[in-house]
Amino acid sequence: MTKKRLMLDFPTHLLDQPVTCELTRKYDLDVVWHQERCIQCTACTSACPTGALSVQRPEMIMSFDQDRCMGCGLCEPVCPYRAMEVVC
Ligand code: SF4
Ligand code: SF4
Repeated sequence: MTKKRLMLDFPTHLLDQPVTCELTRKYDLDVVWHQERCIQCTACTSACPTGALSVQRPEMIMSFDQDRCMGCGLCEPVCPYRAMEVVC
């Protein structure tokens, strides 16, 4: 069975809801941060609505908090190095 990409039908009203990984589980998604590809450009932190992707300043250290990720997939297309991947 082919799984549908969440971005196509993501319920945007949920962006205002408390952070939850409920959607990630519901759609059986696995959001992976390929840290070895990441150049710490921080483009994804602006795209992430939940704060799952954040940067620690001034060191500019990126981090990915899986528990805050709701699987919206917004980070995937903005990453120039394909370091964010939504597996579904
Ligand atoms: S899929 Fe990406 S943009 Fe969406 S909540 Fe998870 S880390 Fe943030
Ligand atoms: S957009 Fe990609 S390369 Fe840039 S900080 Fe995010 S994961 Fe790393």
